Amino acid sequence: MKITLLNYGQFDRNLLNKVAESVEKEFHSEVIIRDEYADLSTFFDSSRKQYNGNKLLGFIENKPGQGDEKFIGLFNVDIFIPILTYIYGQAYLNGKSAIASSHRLSNERYGMVKDEKLFLERLIKETHHELGHCFGLLHCHSPGCVMQSSTYVEDIDQKSGHFCESCRKHLHSSSL
Ligand SMILES: [Zn+2]
Ligand SMILES: [Zn+2]
Repeated sequence: MKITLLNYGQFDRNLLNKVAESVEKEFHSEVIIRDEYADLSTFFDSSRKQYNGNKLLGFIENKPGQGDEKFIGLFNVDIFIPILTYIYGQAYLNGKSAIASSHRLSNERYGMVKDEKLFLERLIKETHHELGHCFGLLHCHSPGCVMQSSTYVEDIDQKSGHFCESCRKHLHSSSL
């Protein structure tokens, strides 16, 4: 099994190495990082002034991959899907593809002091969460479980970066 982090956000390598390390531990999987470039203007919705999450996810899905390989596209643009104002990310349940965006994860966005550690934690949680969906996990209500759904950034801060025991069992039975 292999998980590939596709860097579409020009993220710093040190930052992504930390995300990769965390994903490796949580999923017991080989993780690689690939710097990617795409003209995102084709995903821009000019009436909403945001990027179309369904189209971005479809774009990642079309990446050639083999067997049980999983891909998550990491972006830094504001992403929406038609029924929601914005999303932090989304994924195909039991599929090979996911997307996540850092756009709404930084403190500065909310007029607060920059906090790189918190930003990294949020990005890690979102990455774990979306990849969890790729491995067949649904939203979970266990306190602290990373598969809890998050509407606000405070919701992300309240959960841990880890899977609860039940999610972990499911994860490792589906990835064997
Ligand atoms: Zn979710
Ligand atoms: Zn759980």
